[in-house]
Amino acid sequence: MIQVLENYPIASLNTFRDDYFARYFVQSNSPEAIARFLEQHSELSYLIIGGGSNLLFTENFDGILISPDFREKQVILEDEKMVIFQVGASLNFDKIVEYTTDKNWGGLENLSLIPGTVGAAPIQNIGAYGVEAKDCIFQVATFDLKNKTERIFTPEECQFGYRNSFFKQNPGQFLVTSVTFLLSKGNHHFHTEYGNIKEKLSNKPISLKHIRQTIINIRRNKLPDPNLYPNAGSFFKNPVVSASVFEKLSKNNSNLPYYKMNDNYKIPAAWLIDRCGFKGREYKRAGVFHNQPLVICKFSEDTTGNEIAKFSRKIQTTVFEKFGIKLEPEVTIF
Ligand code: FAD
Ligand code: NAP
Repeated sequence: MIQVLENYPIASLNTFRDDYFARYFVQSNSPEAIARFLEQHSELSYLIIGGGSNLLFTENFDGILISPDFREKQVILEDEKMVIFQVGASLNFDKIVEYTTDKNWGGLENLSLIPGTVGAAPIQNIGAYGVEAKDCIFQVATFDLKNKTERIFTPEECQFGYRNSFFKQNPGQFLVTSVTFLLSKGNHHFHTEYGNIKEKLSNKPISLKHIRQTIINIRRNKLPDPNLYPNAGSFFKNPVVSASVFEKLSKNNSNLPYYKMNDNYKIPAAWLIDRCGFKGREYKRAGVFHNQPLVICKFSEDTTGNEIAKFSRKIQTTVFEKFGIKLEPEVTIF
């Protein structure tokens, strides 16, 4: 089945609430039908959209927005130690984390409350609180929209990196139809080293549910609710710099925070932005969130996507001038 709507308003399809129109909005549970529609309209560009929580639109989308509709979930294999669980790409990611945690299946709990769909999780290898999607992904089922064939990707073929993957590097060709996770049953490996998780867990016995609830509490306290302040999470990736760049930077900034990543150093972009003096609602109706300057928010109902893009460029330029570091957007901008 395929549903095609023309000149479709997209404000409700993205967490920045960008109020533009798409030339076509196509929803379907058939990858073949989607591929056929794209072939018939090959002169137009297209974008696969999930929950729209990692996107920024700055104008009308003069192409085809594809909203896949794959909602099955099933256990493929299970024994007393592990479960292999296949989940349709269009299901809400956090609902799946809730479901698996309730079943006492371990692996996804640190990724609690990340907005968006299951199908988008492997695209940028979502991560939070010391865990990345790649840590639990067994395989990713896709439909190759160019060659009209199904293709299963192993984790190696996905080429997962820090907020990166083969899919992010080759956008559009592969429509993710389902993601299969390998989760633990009993004998869980709890990830509690990140930040203040341990402290917040305090003296209660550790369980998957307890970790999930703790992370939900931390996130609710620290991050803006997109319903109140439209945003797309971290706007930029944390820059990863070489040892020589790091040495130069830390000479001039004695309190520069960092995390060692093999031979390189990850610098929190939020710190760089803060040091450039971006605080709160600086730029008319856009600004950075007071608790987390890496999140750019709309502070007025009619702030446009274009204003957000301009503001993000102002941040990039200022950070570059002060620190010589080019911040790379994590959000995809159209
Ligand atoms: P969309 O924004 O709709 O799309 C993102 C990309 O995936 C696009 O390139 C799109 O084409 C592609 N895509 C989507 N579905 C498919 C599919 N089925 N097949 C092929 N391609 C597809 N991210 C983190 O990593 N960690 C966090 O902790 C985190 N916290 C966030 C907090 C907030 C408040 C917000 C608003 C965002 C946060 N994000 C975080 C970013 C975002 O939630 C993730 O990137 C998420 O995976 C995006 O899912 P989505 O369904 O909304 O994807
Ligand atoms: P935070 O805890 O204030 O930390 C700031 C940054 O430092 C994080 O981005 C994180 O990098 C890095 N960091 C902190 N502790 C680390 C450690 N032990 N090892 C390696 N890197 C470390 O960050 P926050 O904004 O409150 O977010 C908490 C977590 O949720 C982070 O993992 C963050 O990625 C995730 N998050 C992501 C988004 C998004 O849109 N992508 C939005 C909100 C929250 P990493 O980002 O690499 O973890």
